[in-house]
Amino acid sequence: MQEQNYWLTTVEMPTADGSRPLPETADVAVIGAGFTGLSAARTLAMRGARVAVLEAESIGWGASSRNGGMVLTGMKLGVHKLISMYGRELTRRMYAASLASMDCVEQIVREERIDCAFSRCGHLEVACKQKHFDNYQRQAEIIEVEFNHKLRVVPRSELSSEIGSSIYFGGMVDDVSAGCNPARYVAGLARSARKAGAEIFEHARVESIVRDSRNGELGWKVSTSRGQLWAHEVFVGTSGYTGPATPTLQKKLIPIGSFIIATEILPKALAKELSPRNRMIYDSKNYLYYYRLTPDGRMLFGGRAAFFPETDQTIRRSADLLRRGMIGVYPQLRDARVEYVWGGTLDFAFDIMPHAGQMDGMYYAVGYAGHGVAMATFQGQKIAEMMAGDKPENPFVGIPFPGAPLGLYNGKPWFLPFAGAWYKVLDWVN
Ligand SMILES: Cc1cc2nc3c(=O)[nH]c(=O)nc-3n(C[C@H](O)[C@H](O)[C@H](O)COP(=O)(O)OP(=O)(O)OC[C@H]3O[C@@H](n4cnc5c(N)ncnc54)[C@H](O)[C@@H]3O)c2cc1C
Repeated sequence: MQEQNYWLTTVEMPTADGSRPLPETADVAVIGAGFTGLSAARTLAMRGARVAVLEAESIGWGASSRNGGMVLTGMKLGVHKLISMYGRELTRRMYAASLASMDCVEQIVREERIDCAFSRCGHLEVACKQKHFDNYQRQAEIIEVEFNHKLRVVPRSELSSEIGSSIYFGGMVDDVSAGCNPARYVAGLARSARKAGAEIFEHARVESIVRDSRNGELGWKVSTSRGQLWAHEVFVGTSGYTGPATPTLQKKLIPIGSFIIATEILPKALAKELSPRNRMIYDSKNYLYYYRLTPDGRMLFGGRAAFFPETDQTIRRSADLLRRGMIGVYPQLRDARVEYVWGGTLDFAFDIMPHAGQMDGMYYAVGYAGHGVAMATFQGQKIAEMMAGDKPENPFVGIPFPGAPLGLYNGKPWFLPFAGAWYKVLDWVN
């Protein structure tokens, strides 16, 4: 088994010429070369802005190349919770935006001819308890009434048409969701941002951003590990890797580790038995598993096996835990070789919602809580449109962005072991 991201074996990631110096000035400095930053850079450059993307590591290095490639409808929070937090009207707009975010990915993939196996294969949520299944019917009804979006509830007796596992109490299908190869997608997004005129600088970690005037114009002095540049505007798309260069944002985000294993290529008949309709699948727990077949027929199985962000230790421990989890779902995979294991860091806001807009004078989009493939692309584009002077529909701008309760957080997630234990307790009692 290799401690390596399987997706990266399927793509030639574009690289940047490391010897090219940073420009002296730019219209916009975009921090982070993942879905968020690259989508923003592409849109801004298409509008004629001079864009410099500053990436601490390499193109797509963060969660954008490491995820499950599930392009999902909806948000992490359930619809009842959303309505209780924001009311019906705003929730309707949020739900519509979540559907639009998938169209946004599909449109970019088509326009830029990104070869990333994008397919509207739908997703399946499976119920780990009877009461979770009972709730599916209620959710499907309210989503149809409020958002005119149809979900299909699948009783246990019919579940074998969707999944080759007998441990679940039923499921709920959304045919609109999609799947893709995320590393190929982020690579294509980087190429398209460049084609539009954006410049990307790798190994350029932003260390500080301070207000600065130049020839009477207000802007920002951005200092990086590769030197300085001056920019009119700054856009921050650093998600789970947000650090001390943007301290206010860092204190509002919890970085959480998520881990994935991928098996060897499975015999076609076995792959078909495990996932007859090739859905993107996840279960109903807080401490959930998510899984799918890869385009070449491996089982890719992920979960928050170790809560803490990825290190050699958490990755190794996760491989074991995830393999056991996978066999619990699919005993048919007892003898399947696990060939890859890797991890990545995603970002949760304290209210588990996406947030975007302006903070401390800088633009940002963060907080995707594991639903970022579509939403990060969408937010990058919408915030870029806003920076260009448009008024795009974006219901996530301006919603309250809470910090830690009682301000008990300095950006270092000391409470993660407790949060992990707490989620396990919730799964046990709920
Ligand atoms: C294991 C895993 C599985 C997931 N599965 C799914 C899924 O199936 N479906 C889904 O919708 N979502 C999923 N997600 C979430 C999704 O991948 C993310 O929400 C999304 O990729 C976020 O994109 P981003 O561009 O905002 O951040 P990232 O892709 O994380 O990029 C942020 C970049 O910012 C850079 N950076 C940070 N600080 C600095 C600095 N100071 N200077 C310069 N650069 C900096 C980092 O190096 C990084 O490259 C998953 C995440 C993980 C980790």
